[in-house]
Amino acid sequence: MSEKVIIIGSGPAAWTSAIYSARASLEPLVIEGAITEENRVAGTLPMGQLALTTEVENFPGFPSGNLESYLDDAVDKDRRMMMAPHAKEGVSGPELVELIRQQAVNFGTRIVTDDVVEVDLDSTPRKLITSDGTAYEATAIIVATGARANYLGLQSECDYMNRGVSACAVCDGALPRFRNKPLAVVGGGDSAVEEAEYLSKFAEKVYMIHRRDELRASKIMAKRALDNPKIEVLWNRTVAEVLGNEADGVTAVRLNSTVGEDDLVQEISGFFLAIGHTPNTAFLDGKIEMTDKKYIKWTTPGRTYTSVEGVFAAGDVADDYYRQAITAAGTGCMAALDAERWLAAQGHH
Ligand code: NAP
Repeated sequence: MSEKVIIIGSGPAAWTSAIYSARASLEPLVIEGAITEENRVAGTLPMGQLALTTEVENFPGFPSGNLESYLDDAVDKDRRMMMAPHAKEGVSGPELVELIRQQAVNFGTRIVTDDVVEVDLDSTPRKLITSDGTAYEATAIIVATGARANYLGLQSECDYMNRGVSACAVCDGALPRFRNKPLAVVGGGDSAVEEAEYLSKFAEKVYMIHRRDELRASKIMAKRALDNPKIEVLWNRTVAEVLGNEADGVTAVRLNSTVGEDDLVQEISGFFLAIGHTPNTAFLDGKIEMTDKKYIKWTTPGRTYTSVEGVFAAGDVADDYYRQAITAAGTGCMAALDAERWLAAQGHH
């Protein structure tokens, strides 16, 4: 049976598309991604990047306040049981995305927990195949697969993956191996500051390794890092090698200088990456127009249309600029409305 609309992804863009599509009686099917070790390591598990963050202070509608009883009431009991306890006031990333998912479920959204591995966008209806070999058909498709964290690409980084190397401080930073130890975060953007700040709660000291003499982070975030006594920025440094041994994992990092100074070996027990993101579009390679960084191109100004008719894109998969939960939710809404109107124009009601 062909679906009216299939939504691929499971962050705020995907679930918001699902809420709007479901309310427009399009009976959406969401393919939310697979729960696999490979996806865990790559940072592409269901629920997306928001699920890998801590407090969310800038999503409208969630000022500080105790959400515990609201969450108990709003989220299905079996999923609520799996959610980490949240001691602080306000909403956390995992809570927020769980609430948006629940809202989509409440309106009848159906969910497949698997990865889309192949697409045929030339056929009518369009065809999608998931990793278990199941084929799905849909008239309209909304791609909202988001983006994932980048690594430097060093062999030594691979060698110590999950033994001190991580691209998600929020997921891994509280592990015992990192407690009261010196740690490093690579990058100078908002993410690097956020990760360094988070780690500074557990670490003895956090070194931010940045390749320039000025942070890219917004002024308010940069000030937080520079004012934090536990954070020290190692300016004008690039990573030559992550050092370690079998027993302890990461023990140090060797840094080159971009301004002609000597190499520096800094002792650390954890090495965290915060150097930007790559969109999750490999399964669409050659099938849809993308930018040179492999983000899906929106082909009509102010719309979520792509180069393929009936295929719409929402959230970070098509946005390397704003990358906020609220902008992802906003474009998710736009994609659902675009799909609804396009389907109506095709005679599907
Ligand atoms: P970003 O702003 O692109 O910053 C990436 C950082 O990594 C830059 O400092 C860059 O250095 C460095 N970098 C990139 N490739 C590198 C390499 N190969 N080797 C060494 N360093 C490298 O990415 P982001 O920090 O993930 O932020 C992305 C977007 O999300 C931004 O719009 C940001 O404002 C937003 N965001 C907001 C918040 C918040 O408001 N709470 C939190 C996180 C992210 P250069 O500076 O030299 O290019």
